[in-house]
Amino acid sequence: MPITLQQCQTWDQADELAALRDEFDLPAGTIYLDGNSLGAMPRNALARAQDIIARQWGVDLINSWNKAGWWQLPTRLGDQLAPLVGAGAGEIVVTDTTSLNLYKVLANAVRIQQRRQPERKVILAERDAFPTDLYMVQGLLGFMDRGYTLELIDRPEDLPSRLGEQTAVVLLSHVNYRTGYQWDLSAASQQAHAAGALIVWDLCHSIGAVPIDLEAADADFAVGCTYKYLNGGPGSPAMLWAKPRHRADFWQPLSGWWGHARPFDMAVDYAPDRGIRGFLCGTQPIVSLGLVACGLEIFAKTDMHKLRRKSLALTDLFIALVEQECAGQGLTLVTPREHAQRGSHVSFRHPEGYAVVQALIARGVIGDYREPEVARFGVTPLYLRFVDIWDAVQHLKAVLTQREWDQPRYRQRGAVT
Ligand SMILES: *Cc1c(COP(=O)(O)O)cnc(C)c1O
Repeated sequence: MPITLQQCQTWDQADELAALRDEFDLPAGTIYLDGNSLGAMPRNALARAQDIIARQWGVDLINSWNKAGWWQLPTRLGDQLAPLVGAGAGEIVVTDTTSLNLYKVLANAVRIQQRRQPERKVILAERDAFPTDLYMVQGLLGFMDRGYTLELIDRPEDLPSRLGEQTAVVLLSHVNYRTGYQWDLSAASQQAHAAGALIVWDLCHSIGAVPIDLEAADADFAVGCTYKYLNGGPGSPAMLWAKPRHRADFWQPLSGWWGHARPFDMAVDYAPDRGIRGFLCGTQPIVSLGLVACGLEIFAKTDMHKLRRKSLALTDLFIALVEQECAGQGLTLVTPREHAQRGSHVSFRHPEGYAVVQALIARGVIGDYREPEVARFGVTPLYLRFVDIWDAVQHLKAVLTQREWDQPRYRQRGAVT
């Protein structure tokens, strides 16, 4: 039986999460399938920004560091975020970028190994990682210059055979930004530990999209974006988690005054806060940071297991409809069909992937493109309806069957793809 529009409407009527869509201010006529790159705007973000700017900054001025709790904001948000990743209170800071946070935790992980097992000098990561992860490893190793090397695995199934006596730290992306492949967080963490390595997780494409339990998985460190599935706003600061057990071995290279145990002593020597605040560096972008709460408050109204159920229903629908409506049009699914291996976005290869995505955007269906040839569609269960998936696939069908993509204007590349 082919899937019909009526069927999608029925699923929407039965959707217990349907009301959450009202928490967002989505432009009319747009089907937003890029919430994995920049989350949509929570409806209360504008009023929150108004409050932070006009009252906290405008009226209370510098008093707001205490009065509005600006100073505690990185850990307060961390505590709000903690349930989404299976972490406890006081274990997360929201600060800086994912790239910077990765640098800090990688350095901490390497340092722990230098003390315990100095013969281990390999950082094991994925060739298919989001490039900034590899760049940050390269920067760190270039700076250390003590015989450390970065080794890359080409396929997830290669992890066990590549772990060895040399492996100091493993760095993995929980969900791959391009393919949507999801690692088994527990299994990979266990494998790393069994081989004597520590493991750092990049959660950028999984946080707020799939249930995560860092404590149950016994992970060591984790970093992740808040501006993607968490809807924190463009460039909103990232999260950083460190296993409490590593606190005694805390060390980070970006030893700024915000991470000092007593910053207002204005002491000459750095003495880090022994809690998670030690991972802070300098003064935080309060306006941007303050808006992260708007997205997190929406997550507090539901739970990740309900969201995951809807996300899988939507990605299953997307795949099934593309196969039903767009067969023979040159699309190849690159996202795993197996639920346990899938995040919350669906990607297809197409030789003209870039132009196809541009033609879709012209029709109001916003996905994005990632080299090579990958058209990527983020599925956000908080605000997408089953009919949105239906409509998106109808647009995709039109773009492909009428070769709408085959126009010079759809081949021009902006600075951001
Ligand atoms: C989006 C993303 C990043 C981005 O890092 P920034 O420092 O915020 O630019 C890093 N890693 C992964 C896996 C991502 O998806």
